[in-house]
Amino acid sequence: LDVPIHDAVLGRAPEYGDRPAMVDGITGKELSYAQLDAMTRRVAAGLAELGIRHGDVIALYSPNTILYPVVFYGATRAGATVTTVNALYTADELHKQLVDSKAKLLVTISLFLPVATAAIEGTDVTEIFVCDSAEGYRSVMELLASTGPEPEVSIDPANDVAVLPYSSGTTGVAKGVMLTHRNIATNIAQAEPMITLGEDERIIAILPFFHIYGLSVLMNLPLRLGATVVVLPKFELQQFLTTLDQQRITRAFVAPPVVLALAKHPAVDGVDLSALKHVTSAAAPLDGELAEACAKRLGLHAVLQAYGMTELSPGTHAVPQDDPEPPPGAVGKLFPSTEMRLVGADGNDVGDDETGEIWIRGPQVMKGYFGRLAETDATVDRDGWLHTGDIGRMDARGYLYVVDRVKELIKYHGYQVPPAELEAVLLTDDRIADAAVIGVQADGNEVPKAFVVPMPGVELTADDVIEYVAARVAPYKKIRQVEFIDAVPKAASGKILRRELRAREAAARE
Ligand code: ATP
Ligand code: MG
Repeated sequence: LDVPIHDAVLGRAPEYGDRPAMVDGITGKELSYAQLDAMTRRVAAGLAELGIRHGDVIALYSPNTILYPVVFYGATRAGATVTTVNALYTADELHKQLVDSKAKLLVTISLFLPVATAAIEGTDVTEIFVCDSAEGYRSVMELLASTGPEPEVSIDPANDVAVLPYSSGTTGVAKGVMLTHRNIATNIAQAEPMITLGEDERIIAILPFFHIYGLSVLMNLPLRLGATVVVLPKFELQQFLTTLDQQRITRAFVAPPVVLALAKHPAVDGVDLSALKHVTSAAAPLDGELAEACAKRLGLHAVLQAYGMTELSPGTHAVPQDDPEPPPGAVGKLFPSTEMRLVGADGNDVGDDETGEIWIRGPQVMKGYFGRLAETDATVDRDGWLHTGDIGRMDARGYLYVVDRVKELIKYHGYQVPPAELEAVLLTDDRIADAAVIGVQADGNEVPKAFVVPMPGVELTADDVIEYVAARVAPYKKIRQVEFIDAVPKAASGKILRRELRAREAAARE
């Protein structure tokens, strides 16, 4: 699949014709494949008329809408690179990404105009377009009305950057990740043997399109294979459940917080989820017990995990859908044409069932971080191995388990305690709705501290929490401190923001 991403994804769109490609989960408005295909070509023509050239960067700052792929593939057809922007960003954050990515054009929605107009000051952005309409602003509708010729750009799949998404910024500054057309197109081909996706499937797009995982719903198999993508602008449990039911959704790509809700929330009992056949979870650690509880409640054989990162276009592992008994908690098996090493602290490969840092080599490894040569060199070594910063372990069946991030491990008296493991134990307690764990300083040592959200109406003390976990883990992993909170801070992509908890902790100490 060495072709531009719009050809890899929309190549068969004319064939699919009137079949619905995109559906707005709230209004029911639809775009057929023929419409989607034609609209991306018109947008490309409109952008070319506007002076957008091969290699220019276009920023897309929008919640999930059915027009997202129209703008996205319109831009790539014009030879542009799309940098997708977190829809929750403030003007300051957006400004930083516009500067960093050197974007020339910003596409947004009218609701976001106050932020967008403030953010473009002092950047290379010369024009803002809105996907809907707003007095005094140019609209994507204008691009769609273009009568000009479709631009003839000759894309070099191996070198031209199709997308410049930003990493989540979980461990530090969000970095712009250069993904070429080849990176994305090969990752589609690599996913194909793991996932059997029928063209009559209806897939819910609840994860934000700006993040690589949500974006892969638009950039990977669903649209290539002629399925229907049902879009919701944000995750709200009741609306999500109603949409699953009414839209007869067959497949959902979600992150662990949604699996948690599906496993534990009382609202799930009231909905008909009989159409739902596959749930995939990725982006953050998911415990096997929780995954099983969710699968059981939904009548599925398993929650299918996948693993990846922005720098890997994004996938390297998935649980093959046709495995009748995938091991709970495993993130999956290695994609074809991808190599993996698990490397110990001494730089050597670890043995079976031992843990080491996950290194990946393959055609989906990013071209590099944009404008950050030193960081690129620190992440991808001279032999082409990308050091993920995640700790993993393999079982005899070839399944990978992700333990946690190297940087997040708590060092307790020379032992290493993965916070994700403790979070998983906490979530098995019926009295606990949600939890997060970080390392905090106590008497010159780092010790595990739990932040716990109790189930509504439940009386729970710190000792209850400490005892519950102590009965289930080795003594060195015991929770030593507990704080009750209203909600665990999480990123839009579903990751626990332990960094925020650490900042809160530091502030409390001052
Ligand atoms: P940053 O690199 O900016 O700090 P980030 O690493 O969170 O942010 P992403 O590229 O969105 O940015 O996320 C990739 C990371 O998500 C992986 O390195 C891994 O830590 C985690 N992850 C992804 N899938 C899984 C999974 N199935 N299980 C556990 N962790 C996962
Ligand atoms: Mg990362």
